[in-house]
Formats: sequence, C-alpha cells, structure tokens
Amino acid sequence: MGNKYKVTAFLVLIILFSACKDNPKKSTPIVKAEPPVVEEVKEIHEFGYNLNDYVVKRDTIKSGDSFGHILGRNHIGYSTIHNIVEAVKNTFDITSLQLGKPYTLLCAKDSLQTPECFIYQPNLEDYVVVDFKDSIQAYTEQKPISYIEKSATGVINSSISETLEEQGLSPRLAFKLADEIYAWTIDFRRLQKGDRFKVIYTDKYIDDTIYTGVHNIKAAYFEHNSEPFYAFAFETDSDKGIVDYFNEDAKNLRRAFLKAPVQFSRISSRYNLKRRIAVYGYKVRPHKGTDFAAPIGTPIMATANGTVTKSERRGGNGNYVKIRHNATYETQYLHMSKRKVKVGQYVKQGDVIGWVGMTGNTGGPHVCYRFWVNGKQVDPFKQKLPQAQSISDSLKVEYLEFIKPIKEQLDDIPFEIKPELIEEPKGETVRQNEHLIS
Ligand SMILES: [Zn+2]
Repeated sequence: MGNKYKVTAFLVLIILFSACKDNPKKSTPIVKAEPPVVEEVKEIHEFGYNLNDYVVKRDTIKSGDSFGHILGRNHIGYSTIHNIVEAVKNTFDITSLQLGKPYTLLCAKDSLQTPECFIYQPNLEDYVVVDFKDSIQAYTEQKPISYIEKSATGVINSSISETLEEQGLSPRLAFKLADEIYAWTIDFRRLQKGDRFKVIYTDKYIDDTIYTGVHNIKAAYFEHNSEPFYAFAFETDSDKGIVDYFNEDAKNLRRAFLKAPVQFSRISSRYNLKRRIAVYGYKVRPHKGTDFAAPIGTPIMATANGTVTKSERRGGNGNYVKIRHNATYETQYLHMSKRKVKVGQYVKQGDVIGWVGMTGNTGGPHVCYRFWVNGKQVDPFKQKLPQAQSISDSLKVEYLEFIKPIKEQLDDIPFEIKPELIEEPKGETVRQNEHLIS
C-alpha cells in the first residue's frame, strides 16, 4: 500500500510539474524531478474520475479532523458545508470518518484550488464519493477487484510454512491447506520429509495493484507418505454458495466429525472399559470418554453440526454440553469452565461451545469427550466415521466433468522450482502459468 501512495504521489508531481511547464513565469519546482523518465502524462482514472482534470490532494483523517474542518481549511464556506452536509445526510454519515483513514480532495485547477469532490476510503475496497461540483450527491462505490490464478509447488523439508516461506509464498496457503482442505485426511504436525504438494489458487487484488492475499484454493495435490491426496473445490449448492473439497472420486474430504474437540491437545486418557484406578482400590472403573488435556480456557469445539440437547452443570460432569447430530450420533463435552451454548441451539462443526475447565470430578484441566452411537457410548477412534455430505448422483457426473481439465492442469505442473522465481516478492510474481480470470 505504501508503494501505491508513493506511485500516486509521484504521478501528482508529474502533473504539477507539467502544469508548471505550461507557465514559464512560475519558478522551477522545488521538488526534484526523477531522472528523465518523465513520459507523456497519461490519463489517470481513479474513483471514476479522470484525475488529470483536478489538483489531487490526498491525506488521512487526523485527530480532531471532521468533514467540516477539512472542507473549511480548503476554503469552502460554512454555508456551503452546511448545504453539503444536509444534502448527503441520508447517504453519507459525516461522523463516520475514522482516524488514519485516507481521503482525497479533487480540487479545481485554478488559483484557489477549490475542492469539488471529497472521497473517503473506509477500507481498501470501498470508497465514498461526496461530489459537490454542480449538484450535491454522495454514493459508495467499490474499487475494481481482480483475481489472478497462480500455482505453486513445494517439497517439505521440515514444515509446510517453511517450504512456503522459502519460496516467498503466503502463509495463508498453509493455513488453507491444513485447516480447510486436508484437516480430516493429513495431520500437518506430522508431515514427512519429502512430502510434496502442488496447489492452484487465486490471489486477490484491488485496483490491479493492491495485493490482499490468497482468495481461495481451486485445487490441490498433496503427497503424504507417498500417498496422493487430490482436492478440488466444487460448489454443491449455488443458492447457499456452499463450496466443498472433494477428491478425484467425488468423495468429500471432510468428515462428519472432527478428530478432536480441542486444537493442539494431547489425549491424557482413552476410552477404556477395563480401566482400574488406584484411588478406587484398583476396582474396574470404565472410562467411556476420551480425555483431551488442554489449558483452562482453551476453546472447545462442536465436532460436528447438530443441536444442543443439554447444557448444564451437574455432579461429576461439571459444566457439560451434549449435542445431537442426527438420529444416530450424539457427542458430549465435560468439565468445562464455562458453557457458551443453550439447549435448542444449532451449532456447526468447529463452533466454540465452551471452554476447558476443571468442574466436576477431574484431577486436571481437560475435556472429557463422549461419543454416542444409537444411545451407546463408544470409542470414536474405533469408529469408521461417516464422510461429510457427499455429492448427489446427478451432480457427480457434472463434478467429474468439471475436474477433468483441472486435474490435467494440476498433473502438468512440474515439481521442480525455477530458481529465478524464488526471490520474487510474495504474491506479486507474474508467472508464466498465471492468467486473469475475472
Ligand atoms: Zn473422561
């Protein structure tokens, strides 16, 4: 972004400079012009205006600034300001200006340089135009957004983030691969040296110049322990905009259940019907849950979509939540420090339902996770857990057609990395295999 402003500032200088050249009486500009690279001034369009028609003043909202102050110190009289504020009050809230946000004044190219238009940018994508050149109007527009398709490959030496970093690729790719696509199939904390991947993804740009990061992953190939895992993004519900990842056989990569209700935990006690405990005189005290040890306050997630059937504090369970997922499956989460959901509430997989604690009978902070199949508690690790919703038969044909060229594209990407591409800055590299898709 800093670069962008530098570039723009430079362009403004060119405009000023060329304006001065037209008027020989004016002294030479104080600002040193860059070496003789000054070209013909091209038309510069931004915010829907041709900036060459104006003196462009850019600044950011400073402490104590208000819409009125800014216009006032740019020679606009109070009654005019009042008229503007009155005219735009339904479309632009002048009190919404935030400290540090950029604004631009388009001013007349005369000696007074009277502002004719005020443009405020509340974020990178949107801008608000208050135009008071002739009639007064205000509206919000969005900067043009483009997506550029790119591909990347890598061989794991120690971790995926390191591999991405070496190539100047966004760490967001690692996050998306690990948490959104392969969370159910590959344990990214246990990658092997020599595991490798290819990925086709899109980067998002605003105004073709501002890089805002990885937008989405279109397809991926991950070879873990020499086993290939393909993933293709496919929209299964265009009304709801639901996109899921499926493999080359149209199997959903997601499972109906997460492997654990807490992240980065360790299993401190497994499901064991023959457990004997010293404090109970080594009598058999079956443990029908799986204990995940984690620090107090660690978020506990619903392992699958479902409806909360219990949320209460009772006896040895302490604070606990029980969720019914469908006619067959229920899960239960014990010893929470605090619960976050109410009975009857619908929760989605990964939603936080409470936090790890030590309520009820427990020797240390952990969540006791209980898994019910048809009303009986079982060991979730011994279950062949169902796949998340699969593609309907009618859609499957469409899917297999859809991925055919993408899979070819993926398979054609070579693993070797071209050395000249390595030192390019992240995300902004123009590669041979990228093309504009929108
Ligand atoms: Zn337990």
